[in-house]
Amino acid sequence: MATTTKAKGSAKNRYNELKKMLEDRRRELVSEVQGRMRDVRADGNKERDVLDQGESSEVDIQEDIEFALIQMKSETLNKIDAALRRLDDGSYGDCFECGDEISEARLRALPFAVRCKDCEEARETAEQRERALARKSGSSALFFDMSN
Ligand SMILES: [Zn+2]
Repeated sequence: MATTTKAKGSAKNRYNELKKMLEDRRRELVSEVQGRMRDVRADGNKERDVLDQGESSEVDIQEDIEFALIQMKSETLNKIDAALRRLDDGSYGDCFECGDEISEARLRALPFAVRCKDCEEARETAEQRERALARKSGSSALFFDMSN
């Protein structure tokens, strides 16, 4: 089989798939954020007139939660925009450690993953080992202190 042309074709395909995936997510988030902002504004105006002080502070808390959610989603939106920019300059979806392509399935589950599965697992293993080592050296230091 013509592997060279196939590889080129699939790279283009991957770009389109990832772009579509990011843009779909972006659209979802935008409409969600806009919907929430409309709700907050509508609720705020409607209820504030009739509520007494205690109830209106409850509304305030709800609004705070809504705004926190909106803010969180806006931040995700920013990350998606950054990912789209990286996709265009060709650096999105490549593993930060080994430079290999991160699988599309992984990116669908974790759009902001910066490592491939192998490197992520290797990193987690290394971290666990470091934690274990830190614990061990911590306890031996303690032991050393006590024997002193
Ligand atoms: Zn990797």
